[in-house]
Amino acid sequence: MSEMQSRRRFIRLTVAGASALPLAGLVGTAHAQAKVDPNSPQAKGLQYVVDATKAPGRKDPKHFCDNCALYTAKGPNEGACSAFAGGLVAAKGWCAAWAPMPAKK
Ligand code: SF4
Repeated sequence: MSEMQSRRRFIRLTVAGASALPLAGLVGTAHAQAKVDPNSPQAKGLQYVVDATKAPGRKDPKHFCDNCALYTAKGPNEGACSAFAGGLVAAKGWCAAWAPMPAKK
């Protein structure tokens, strides 16, 4: 391999590696999201449960995490909740901070 070919190869690998770094950061963030422990003090304080049908404080049977304004789906069964700093909650869970979706305009 000539010096010129070697230099080109080095530049290509450097550019490819640098462009992959932000993706690696995103993947790392996704893995960093932990499930909210229903027994944690914060979850207890907000009465969070993974099964909304078993929440004594829930007044409306239509309220679930997956139709709460603070929920961002991450899959069919769980999503990130901003009330828990992005921690993962059950799609069919519930807590006392449930908030309606903004009205569509
Ligand atoms: S704030 Fe909404 S999404 Fe978060 S745990 Fe409570 S009901 Fe579920």
